[in-house]
Amino acid sequence: MSGPAVNLLGLPRRELEQFFVGIGEKPFRARQLMKWIYGHGMLDPQRMTDISAPLRQDLAARAPLELPAISAVQESADGTVKWRLDAGAGQAIETVFIPEPGRGTLCVSSQVGCAMNCSFCATGHQGFNRNLGAAEIMAQVVLARRELGDPAGRSPITNVVFMGMGEPLANFRAVVQACSLLVDDLACKLSRRRVTVSTSGLVPQIRRLAQEARVALAVSLHASDDELRNELVPINRQHPIAELLDACWDYVGATNTHEITFEYVMLAGVNDSPAQARRLAALLRHRPAKVNLIPFNPFPQARYRRSAPGVVDEFRSILSAAGIVTVTRRTRGDDIAAACGQLAGQVDNRVRVPLGSRDSRFQEATWPS
Ligand code: SAH
Ligand code: SF4
Repeated sequence: MSGPAVNLLGLPRRELEQFFVGIGEKPFRARQLMKWIYGHGMLDPQRMTDISAPLRQDLAARAPLELPAISAVQESADGTVKWRLDAGAGQAIETVFIPEPGRGTLCVSSQVGCAMNCSFCATGHQGFNRNLGAAEIMAQVVLARRELGDPAGRSPITNVVFMGMGEPLANFRAVVQACSLLVDDLACKLSRRRVTVSTSGLVPQIRRLAQEARVALAVSLHASDDELRNELVPINRQHPIAELLDACWDYVGATNTHEITFEYVMLAGVNDSPAQARRLAALLRHRPAKVNLIPFNPFPQARYRRSAPGVVDEFRSILSAAGIVTVTRRTRGDDIAAACGQLAGQVDNRVRVPLGSRDSRFQEATWPS
């Protein structure tokens, strides 16, 4: 055995095949390993029984497969589970599992913190520390599956959404790598429609995603005019609504996806008036769009309040009357601060990216090396 240790968790199929060829093995070893890792949640090479003993030894020494330590687990009264995972150097990220009848959604983090600085989001308030590697993203899936157990031999995770901490499209390479494993028949076997990337609106990356991953796309819109969106979602100053929506419609065309989901957090007296609903309807009418209205989830420093249920209903009925499928998302796990926008983890050395930054720290993963 020679060469440095590598982390095989999170490596897409082709790169894993190249790894095996590089150590003088057949490429099909990649398939075997992927089945063990993602199919069985098995990370100990010594127990991978269809792999020869010398190769098992070699893998154990050369490519240790490790999951992050769980520093806390909380379970909500509604069955939602939140794990806090050690991300090294005193940092922590959070992953949430949301069970519903007939489906189980895992909400994964893509960054330690977030630099986008949306004014209504707990993660945004913390600032950004670093990108997660593909291994750290896939570790959340493997770990959750393992923790949840699958007595019937079937994964309880039917959907994965990039709606945890971070802006996934600001960590493009790692997120695309993770998506490729989530939809790979030899790994997590999810259909593209069951993997959703949620973005605050990084237009160039939306266009690249259409070429490289073609998964379901959710866009955090939250306002129907640029003046308000500039305030709520500052990236809008670089990529205003018209430009963002153009990228969305092109995404549907290029990927053959059914529609884009637009997320809209309901903030009392800020973006929830009937006039704002009508303007939103005008933007989305006759387009491949559906709307998720999200009740605002409070966090300690928040300066907003949740819209009253009657206001949300009226907003929804204006959109529905315009023919736009609109659902009000049920708040899940808010008793354990696991609801949308409440994930905080532990983010130190925080920075907020100056908009338009080309700083390499914000472009690529820094772990594992
Ligand atoms: N960064 C990505 C994905 C993570 S946030 C994005 O912004 O899309 C997942 C969703 O939760 C987004 O739609 C986000 O706008 C929303 N959200 C953030 N803070 C929230 C809060 N306090 N209450 C309700 N939803 C919130
Ligand atoms: Fe980041 Fe999304 Fe929160 Fe905005 S809403 S700060 S993009 S995690």
